[in-house]
Amino acid sequence: MEGVLSNLERRIWRLLQVLAWAAGMFIWGALFIDPRLGLHLLWNVLIPIAPALFVIAPGAWRNVCPLGSMALAPHHIGWSQQKRLSAVWRGRLFFAAFVLLIVVAPFRKVLLDTNGPLIGALLFAVGLVAIGMGLVLSQKSGWCSSLCPVYPVELLYGSQPVVSVPNAHCHTCLRCVSPCSESTVGLTPRTAVETKLGRATGVALTGCFPGFVWGWYNVPMFSGWDGVRHLHIAYGIPYAAASLSLVVYVTLCGVRPKQEDLITGIFATAAISTYYWFRLPPVFGIGDPDAAMIVDMSPWLPTWSATALRVIALGVFGWLMLARTNRRRAWQTQFNSL
Ligand code: SF4
Repeated sequence: MEGVLSNLERRIWRLLQVLAWAAGMFIWGALFIDPRLGLHLLWNVLIPIAPALFVIAPGAWRNVCPLGSMALAPHHIGWSQQKRLSAVWRGRLFFAAFVLLIVVAPFRKVLLDTNGPLIGALLFAVGLVAIGMGLVLSQKSGWCSSLCPVYPVELLYGSQPVVSVPNAHCHTCLRCVSPCSESTVGLTPRTAVETKLGRATGVALTGCFPGFVWGWYNVPMFSGWDGVRHLHIAYGIPYAAASLSLVVYVTLCGVRPKQEDLITGIFATAAISTYYWFRLPPVFGIGDPDAAMIVDMSPWLPTWSATALRVIALGVFGWLMLARTNRRRAWQTQFNSL
């Protein structure tokens, strides 16, 4: 039966969940004990991989995300009250997730990228909120499909996943949210939450994100408390670029309403391509080696390799998100009972 896990598959996904959780705990502990290592693993290894994973297999990430596993732990051990989240409140939480995303991301340049204990404490607080919501609310409505600030980005980049995987958290469907983010084909930030506020949040996220990402990369990294004195730069540049981008998006959708899906796809592709345009070369030690290096290949790479990497990323995401045919897949394979 499609979407129903065999015992062996279930055990494999449980093992992957435990391993991902242990890796998450290792990174979290390192933020306090060895901040340099913790910050490197969090910002230079985990976060740069995540957007590509959202495009290719968002369902796999949703199965193993350490924070998601913590939010769903009360459900799995029978401690959740399984209360239903109303559509209105889901819209509000989705909006709050978007606000969290655009408030916290610029703060990375101010303090979070350089202060391990601070981001560790913030993650601890976020973990408590996720578990607390999981104790009260049903399944993924408690965090993964409502307040998680990564959820809007998963929707933006993952509307046409390359692969679907079985749902390893929901063994029976409690219809926690509607439409189900895991099993509905082609959801976007505009269609995932069916309230006025939810749709407006989706429009705002889709429209502003390419500019926001571009603006974020054009803010310098501040060290120590110097960033607090430059909040206007850390927030002003991404917000100004995001506003411009949003105006262009809303105008295009207004002029070409029948092309809304295509315009949305183009903006999603523009956002992720902008992200890797800046992120990819430093990963291989090209440009500023302190920026985000994972492996230093600069001695072997020609000077034009940064441009080549960027063009390849643009081509790959353009193809995966816009040009690929036969793209009708949900994040996760569907329950028969849905
Ligand atoms: S499969 Fe059902 S219980 Fe699981 S996330 Fe979707 S709607 Fe919620």
